[in-house]
Amino acid sequence: MQILGETIIGQRAVRGQGGEVFALAAATGEELSPAFGASTPDDVNTACELAEASFDPYRQLSDEQRAAFLEAIAQGLLDLGDTLTERVHVESGLPKPRLEGERMRTVNQLKLFASLLRDGRWHGAVVDTALPDRQPLPRADLRLRRIGLGPVAVFGASNFPLAFSVAGGDTASALAAGCPVIVKAHPAHLGTSELVARVIQKAARDTGMPEGVFSMLIDKDISVGQALVSHPLISAVGFTGSRRGGLALVAAAQARPVPIPVYAEMSSINPVFLLPAALSARGESIAKGFVESLVLGAGQFCTNPGILLALESDALETFVSAAATALADKSPTTMLTPNIHGAYCNGLNNLHKASGVTLVAEGREAEGSFQARPAFFRTDSATFLANPGLEDENFGPSALLIVCKDTADLQKVAAKFDGQLTVTLHFDDGDQAIAQALMPTLERKAGRILFNDFPTGVEVSYSMVHGGPFPATSDSRSTSVGATAIDRFLRPVCYQSVPDSLLPPALQHSNPLKTWRLVNGQLVKD
Ligand code: NAP
Repeated sequence: MQILGETIIGQRAVRGQGGEVFALAAATGEELSPAFGASTPDDVNTACELAEASFDPYRQLSDEQRAAFLEAIAQGLLDLGDTLTERVHVESGLPKPRLEGERMRTVNQLKLFASLLRDGRWHGAVVDTALPDRQPLPRADLRLRRIGLGPVAVFGASNFPLAFSVAGGDTASALAAGCPVIVKAHPAHLGTSELVARVIQKAARDTGMPEGVFSMLIDKDISVGQALVSHPLISAVGFTGSRRGGLALVAAAQARPVPIPVYAEMSSINPVFLLPAALSARGESIAKGFVESLVLGAGQFCTNPGILLALESDALETFVSAAATALADKSPTTMLTPNIHGAYCNGLNNLHKASGVTLVAEGREAEGSFQARPAFFRTDSATFLANPGLEDENFGPSALLIVCKDTADLQKVAAKFDGQLTVTLHFDDGDQAIAQALMPTLERKAGRILFNDFPTGVEVSYSMVHGGPFPATSDSRSTSVGATAIDRFLRPVCYQSVPDSLLPPALQHSNPLKTWRLVNGQLVKD
């Protein structure tokens, strides 16, 4: 499969007429061939009209047909073999083994949603049968199920060129929900985006999907993204990126005559609490684990451990010196884009200059142009509480340790944190009381609470939550990873006294799908 610099609009490959754009080699910043044609407002409109025309036919296909479509995409990603990893590697700078892992995660996400469709519980079918003799008033036959919201705009993420981009989690969950998808490719990996978009286009053709079920557009600036979110035929948005970008999309969605939900995953510093008994028992091994987590993928994970908290003690100093030793040995790694590298360097400069903040250790000096040098800083709770800027995400392998005087101080800092994707506690038996006191605060702050682990590494499963209060996301009621990500693109519809012949199969009296349903309050399959 070749990269031709084209966008995908339904079953057509279109050379955008909105000007030339190039993907850049992450390691050198050089333009990569071929040139891509950016999409135009007409392309946005065509893709949206096709998506709208395909919405009813697509959502009314059987669960089995939509599952087969998702599985065909998964197989297509595998069939791309090295063609895919070679291109992603050049565009993102991410090492090939990581990209192979990310490809398998993407494949498994698609398969998870295929199995969710076959299982049928995603319909959320609820039946309250009629009570004609109820006094003082009879009850009508009431049946509820969930349907897709409509066409969804998905913004590819820079830091997961496969798992959170064209065929990533947002796309897979929206397609599973019965929603056509229009992806706005991330400019950092245009070639990867075209390869994957062609896989989805072919899978749609091979499995007989309606034409407009999928399109992929390219932007020269922010106009295509803005036009998509503002288009009256778009019903929801999935986004992973900066706080500024996410908030701009939320504002655009709110300014429409008909506002729509934006599920934006934005910024998180993922606090890690090093509780005293755990530090005393195994401070050095926690330090090694922390440094591995910090530098993974050049720190370009939404779940990167950017903040550590601990009480002042000798055990903490042992931890700090072990972390410094481990970090000093770490090589710099290429970042995803020159812009992201520039933002990271600015963030480091700010930390170097910040009063009351000291550098604990750095990794080896950068050799290449766009490499991130890992860094570890420390401060005290009073400085942190007095300087709100210290809570800003510095996207990359940088972390700040906040040293607290006592447990009350630790609680105070915890209560001050913004919303997070994760919080982590390193805990031992002697830490029961302090952990118990922290838990109610931490539940309010984060989407996922981890014990004795590190937050990088997100399982794609039924119970995963990759979300959290603002600014981790724009809507804390949902997750963008895991099976329940489908809920973001569904809404409930209640059918009152509708004849059986007009009910959707999930709600018909004979339960032809043999799916689990809540019937008069009891979960049953028949
Ligand atoms: P970004 O600048 O937010 O861009 C993400 C996507 O949104 C791009 O496709 C971008 O399009 C589009 N976009 C941004 N602002 C927009 C606007 N006002 N209107 C319409 N579309 C808009 O994020 P990024 O390029 O991935 O990385 C930049 C920074 O984001 C990083 O340095 C990091 O701080 C943060 N980031 C955080 C996470 C996380 O998970 N916490 C992940 C990735 C990035 P164009 O590029 O074409 O303008």
